[in-house]
Amino acid sequence: MEKKVIFHEEYCKSCELCVNVCPKKIIRIKDDLNRQGYHPAFVRDEDQELCISCALCARMCPDAVIEVYK
Ligand code: SF4
Ligand code: SF4
Repeated sequence: MEKKVIFHEEYCKSCELCVNVCPKKIIRIKDDLNRQGYHPAFVRDEDQELCISCALCARMCPDAVIEVYK
């Protein structure tokens, strides 16, 4: 299945704005650190189908981490 929402995790600063704005509550924070030393946001593969492509997460992200597809 094609992913609906993609996170460029290396740019994430773990502000959690996307986590809080997602109406489906499918965005999580990884235990691992990215190269900048932050815990990046992501959506699990099994949760991708729950995404409604509203793009609120991408609009909220201050670091252009997120791409949303229909
Ligand atoms: S596009 Fe909407 S539903 Fe999908 S992850 Fe982003 S905020 Fe959540
Ligand atoms: S809003 Fe952007 S920078 Fe903040 S946690 Fe989400 S993906 Fe990372």
